[in-house]
Amino acid sequence: MKLVILDRDGTLNPLGEDYITSADEWTAVPGALEAIARLNHAGWHVVVATNQPGLGRGLFDVVALNAIHAKMHRQVAAVGGRIDAVFYCPHAADEECTCRKPAPGLLEQISDRYGVERHDVQVVGSCVAHLQAGAALGAQLHLVCTGQSAQLHPVGPLPAGLPPGLRVHASLGDFVDQLLPAVPATAPPLAATPLPAVGGLAS
Ligand SMILES: [Zn+2]
Repeated sequence: MKLVILDRDGTLNPLGEDYITSADEWTAVPGALEAIARLNHAGWHVVVATNQPGLGRGLFDVVALNAIHAKMHRQVAAVGGRIDAVFYCPHAADEECTCRKPAPGLLEQISDRYGVERHDVQVVGSCVAHLQAGAALGAQLHLVCTGQSAQLHPVGPLPAGLPPGLRVHASLGDFVDQLLPAVPATAPPLAATPLPAVGGLAS
């Protein structure tokens, strides 16, 4: 199975000043949902892994989080794509769980659930903690220059703290362009070579 694990905040939706606490506040990064659909059509499964410490801090509840994700799923479906699942860490930073990124617990759960070798998983996101979790998993790492990394450029200098070996893309769409084999603009013509004659005698 081909598996991409995406971050949510800053990768699929723009970063705001505060936590997103209701579905009304959730909007997509332009082009991000279409990029997911392109991945799906090429046979990739897409799963989201997100820290949601606002749950642990009581800023919103699971009902609100489910409503946010239902809106996200609807918008992805509207462009022909699908997010298989959303795995989230509900804990606050001081709860010392093993699933809050940069700890790899959430990503380990996903790769185990889907039965994908960890070094084959593509981990994509805009924040350092997501990529550090991906590095701890031993996955393929991709930084996209949106959200927390909107000030970065794919060929520019990178901040400290990012794991080595990651690849940098301007957007989620650009990541997909790099991942997927180039598709010709038009389908090649059907073979026009005549079939060899069978059983005929040359005159
Ligand atoms: Zn956790």
